[in-house]
Amino acid sequence: MKALVYTGTEELTYKDFINPTLIKDESIIKVSASGICGSDMHAYHGKDERRVPPLILGHEISGIIEEGSQKGKKVVLNPLITCGNCDYCNSGSEHLCSKRVLLGMNRPIERQGGFAELVSVPDKNIYELPNDLEMKKAPIAEPTAVSLHAVELFEKSLLKPIKDQKILVIGGGAIGLICALILEKVKKCKSVILSEPNESRRNTCSKNLKSQCLKPHDPEVENNSFDLIFDTVGLEITRQNAIKLANPGATIIHIGLTQPAGIFDFRKATLQEITFIGTYCYTNNDFAKTLEILNNKQIGDLNWIEFRDLSKGSEAFKQIHDGTCSSPKIILIP
Ligand SMILES: [Zn+2]
Ligand SMILES: [Zn+2]
Repeated sequence: MKALVYTGTEELTYKDFINPTLIKDESIIKVSASGICGSDMHAYHGKDERRVPPLILGHEISGIIEEGSQKGKKVVLNPLITCGNCDYCNSGSEHLCSKRVLLGMNRPIERQGGFAELVSVPDKNIYELPNDLEMKKAPIAEPTAVSLHAVELFEKSLLKPIKDQKILVIGGGAIGLICALILEKVKKCKSVILSEPNESRRNTCSKNLKSQCLKPHDPEVENNSFDLIFDTVGLEITRQNAIKLANPGATIIHIGLTQPAGIFDFRKATLQEITFIGTYCYTNNDFAKTLEILNNKQIGDLNWIEFRDLSKGSEAFKQIHDGTCSSPKIILIP
């Protein structure tokens, strides 16, 4: 098969790759579409010890079952593979399983990803494509599940309903935009601001949201304060902004994985009782719920997604890297 292979830091090569072979309780999917995720970019920059070249990246995948018990079925993949046996897996928190692994990772276990014509996946990770969700847009289910999980994780611990919170979303990439869409359209929040430094991305977000989309240093952002802040970027500077702009008793939801450490105002966090929540992936339940949300068009028509040919994937990565791509999500089509 043809695949877009991560062959070295900032290097992707479109080339022949060995076909996956069918193993017990798994199916082989003919990939129809596969989205580029922020974490694929992280790997591309050589900064993810779980993704080491040579490797096929990509875990936001839709396609048709090519080999397996349900041959011919149109599907969306939940790329988070878990043991199914531990306390976390048995209590609906599969995403915290100590044996978890994503498609498109090769440490500790090899799992080739979706930037290819074929990919192998356990049957239990396969979801039927909902009727009203377009196959080529369906990879958006994965980042939408991440966003839904992040929004709902904190919702349980809130003192007042989420719709009445003053909310800041930091970052206008796919996760930031989808979080804001869920907050506006699904959770009916009245006060949401999104901050994003890149002008073309900010404009894309503006076109798709009712919320104000502003520069991080806009006075509307800087002179404001918030009850709930989503850091979808995860840089030292964005965490510092988050804590600076937090109201007493506020919650910071940390989703971004860009910079692992740095200075943070723990004194304010203590004195003002700021809750800091890390969030990763989604449960199986979140994934199923996400497909329903997308099928019902609850977060809109998704026309902000851009499509490229898989063979041109290397250029797409370069453009995301340079910041010259205005779309928050590029989906590659084999
Ligand atoms: Zn992803
Ligand atoms: Zn487990």
